[in-house]
Amino acid sequence: MRKPFIAGNWKMNMTHLEAIKFIGNVEYKYENKNDCEVCVCPPFTALRSVKNIIDSNALDIKLGAQNMYYEEAGAFTGEISPLMLKSIGVDYIIVGHSERREIFKETNKIVNQKVKAAFSVGLKPIMCIGESLSIRESGNAEDFVLGQLVECLSEIEEKNIVNLTLAYEPIWAIGTGKTATSKDANDICSAIRGKLENLFGKNISEEIRIQYGGSVKPFNISELMSMTDIDGALVGGASLKVDDFIAIINY
Ligand code: PEP
Repeated sequence: MRKPFIAGNWKMNMTHLEAIKFIGNVEYKYENKNDCEVCVCPPFTALRSVKNIIDSNALDIKLGAQNMYYEEAGAFTGEISPLMLKSIGVDYIIVGHSERREIFKETNKIVNQKVKAAFSVGLKPIMCIGESLSIRESGNAEDFVLGQLVECLSEIEEKNIVNLTLAYEPIWAIGTGKTATSKDANDICSAIRGKLENLFGKNISEEIRIQYGGSVKPFNISELMSMTDIDGALVGGASLKVDDFIAIINY
């Protein structure tokens, strides 16, 4: 049985003080009827303070970071290492988000290096894959997404793979208010699970959680979560509104 997993990607939003206030408000209203695993991914500058508030209130919320470099340490000005994140209590790391692929030119090879680096220190990657609108319209979405999956998971040790979460995020649905239909989203998630079965066997493929991401809101989460191969959501905009985020957790 895969535990539902809802993660909030705050992106480049909230100052340190705003983040403290926000997580305090989440704590005040927190309810988790579905016993989901819940994770918030603040910007680097707020990670430590958000973690302190989570711990001091014994909140059952995991901490995620939005990015990291794949090297351990060294002359990489401006970068953050996997160990730096792990050592302040980060559990999850988003890798391969389409904004990093598009704006910062991250390739599947870089995503693959980041996945390996995350596992090497015990961070759990949330690995994003998804097609653009032109690829969707050309009818090649599934092939494209499965190609990303295979390249990003190249030479990943099997013992680590159950700690991977995949986030299927069609780029045209991110921050646009357009959501894939639940059926279209589930079709790709099922194809992803099929490819995981080819790569790692049935048992492992049944354990790995696949989130959908792309304009997830309180009104569409229930239907998405009723789909066979959608195990959770990676939520951007709606994770910045306390009531919406809590409503999504309690779909
Ligand atoms: C995201 O940032 O991963 C995302 C899915 O954003 P939004 O929910 O705003 O579309």
